[in-house]
Amino acid sequence: MLEHQTYEHDVLVIGAGGAGLRAAIEASAGGVSVGLVCKSLLGKAHTVMAEGGIAAAMANVDDRDNWKVHFADTMRGGQYVNNWRMAELHAKEAPDRVRELEAWGAMFDRTSDGRILQRNFGGHRYPRLAHVGDRTGLEMIRTLQDHGIHRGIDVHMECTIIRLLEDDGRIVGAFGYERERGRFRLFRAKAVVLATGGIGRAFKITSNSWEYTGDGHTLAYEAGADLMDMEFVQFHPTGMIWPPSVQGILVTEAVRGEGGVLKNSEGRRFMWDDIPENYRAQTAADDEEGWRYTQGDKAARRPPELLTRDHVSRCIMREVKAGRGSPHGGVFLDIAWIKTRVPNAGEHIKKKLPSMYHQFKQLADLDITEAPMEVGPTTHYVMGGVRVDADTQMSTVPGLFAAGECAAGINGANRLGGNSLSDILVFGKRAGEYAAEHAKKQKNGAVDERQIDEAARRALEPFERGAKGEGPYQVQYALQELMQDLVGIVRTGAEMQRALEALGDLRARASRVGVAGHREYNPGWHAALDLRNLLTVSEAITRSAIERKESRGGHFRDDYPDKDASFGTFNFIVRKGADGRMNVARAPIPPMPDDLKRIIEEMK
Ligand SMILES: Cc1cc2nc3c(=O)[nH]c(=O)nc-3n(C[C@H](O)[C@H](O)[C@H](O)COP(=O)(O)OP(=O)(O)OC[C@H]3O[C@@H](n4cnc5c(N)ncnc54)[C@H](O)[C@@H]3O)c2cc1C
Repeated sequence: MLEHQTYEHDVLVIGAGGAGLRAAIEASAGGVSVGLVCKSLLGKAHTVMAEGGIAAAMANVDDRDNWKVHFADTMRGGQYVNNWRMAELHAKEAPDRVRELEAWGAMFDRTSDGRILQRNFGGHRYPRLAHVGDRTGLEMIRTLQDHGIHRGIDVHMECTIIRLLEDDGRIVGAFGYERERGRFRLFRAKAVVLATGGIGRAFKITSNSWEYTGDGHTLAYEAGADLMDMEFVQFHPTGMIWPPSVQGILVTEAVRGEGGVLKNSEGRRFMWDDIPENYRAQTAADDEEGWRYTQGDKAARRPPELLTRDHVSRCIMREVKAGRGSPHGGVFLDIAWIKTRVPNAGEHIKKKLPSMYHQFKQLADLDITEAPMEVGPTTHYVMGGVRVDADTQMSTVPGLFAAGECAAGINGANRLGGNSLSDILVFGKRAGEYAAEHAKKQKNGAVDERQIDEAARRALEPFERGAKGEGPYQVQYALQELMQDLVGIVRTGAEMQRALEALGDLRARASRVGVAGHREYNPGWHAALDLRNLLTVSEAITRSAIERKESRGGHFRDDYPDKDASFGTFNFIVRKGADGRMNVARAPIPPMPDDLKRIIEEMK
């Protein structure tokens, strides 16, 4: 057997973003020992990049807001294929999770009477996002990290989990390696919480960090758990597009929430050209009403720039395709125009959007208080993930829980901005609570040495091929191009079939990649291992997207451009078959209780 160090915890949390930290805190509060593993240094998880805010119906800025409106907004945004129970729990519990964060030390921006300030965001009827300038994720991570460390959680930083360990149909631990030295580590646990984030690195243009290689999705899939809604990938409408080195970096929706408008090369606000029927009643009649909305006028309705992300992305693509794009293939996002309305607008913009100001100044030599930004869609978020029970967050495999971006359900076909930071708090807490409860009822399972040996040997295979094998980065790059071109914002059945075949070829190439050198400080080796996960999630996305022969939310098909009601009654499930192949099945959406149905009707 290959050498490894062994650690033992009641609950092992994989991932130290908002979901993982919140789960670890709650599990620890449940009186069990908790281990927390993460690929990067503590404090560097993807959550730290979150900008605009946390959606929670606290009604601090508009007293008409409440959980019912938030629930209805989330379901409408998700085009009604969401897990309604998760959407309900999320809307009800988010305000308490935000107040709790404040009690633990988070310093939110304030209303003039000292309450947590909330801002407008796409698809939310009222100003709902609790925020800290445009650096909300940093404050969230800092607060959770401080709180978690004081609870006595054991943290294993810069360690990548490569396999979950099973015994008699339940999860009994995980196996991974230290990224710095390459040594293997075995974690025995009675319950495991996956909180590994998303998959954005499967695409060429993305706002996501290097960590987003679909690890949790793949670990769960390989352990026999169901994945759900994998066809629903969110392309955020506003990423940087110029210069090329910064392509994909996010331009927060808060720019539009603060009054920023989208224009084409003719200087026209093209978002007025196409208002979806189900949002017509909630959308402003003209520029003037839209502006008043962004400035807090309760009688005004939202401007079209704050329609849902899927729709705004497609409108941008339409303008670019029609030859009305900006010089580098996007459109213009203008916040500087507000100087015609706001005294001292330059300072106002810098105060409200400090990161955006610096991001453009430093990376694109552009002053956003003076000139419009060039923006275009960027792969941002995956609605699909591990299928979980709404209340407990347990997956279909006993002892395996999932929360945050790597879990599915709450967002349906499209996530509203701000709903992820609230999701990771609400369901991170729930996952931690129920994982602790589960662990208390379990004895330690037996660890099968063969599973460890197999995982270690597989991980070391690229060294056997050494420099003779193809480099992992070439394969990764080819995969990203393929997914961007053939399974991206606008899809067709024929292109996705081509993608599926090409994925088979890439899998063959991935099995032949080689890595020179040894295990210490070897990023090429990490890339070779990430490739397996990227290929699995790419296949899951492609297969599910082929099956969904309609357009809904983040999934748009040129060959089926309309929504088809018959596809609104089930979710697509991806599961590993007994023969090792990937299967796609349909899982009916359970009937919604009448009280929730009434809320949706009333809010239409
Ligand atoms: C630029 C940007 C701005 C955003 N702004 C907002 C916003 O304003 N509001 C909002 O609601 N959402 C926002 N989002 C989305 C939101 O930030 C994420 O969806 C959310 O933070 C995900 O949190 P998480 O806890 O699920 O995962 P993460 O924070 O990504 O944490 C994942 C963790 O898992 C670890 N991990 C992964 N794989 C492994 C492995 N194999 N072994 C061990 N550890 C592993 C990682 O190291 C990391 O610690 C934004 C996203 C981006 C990119």
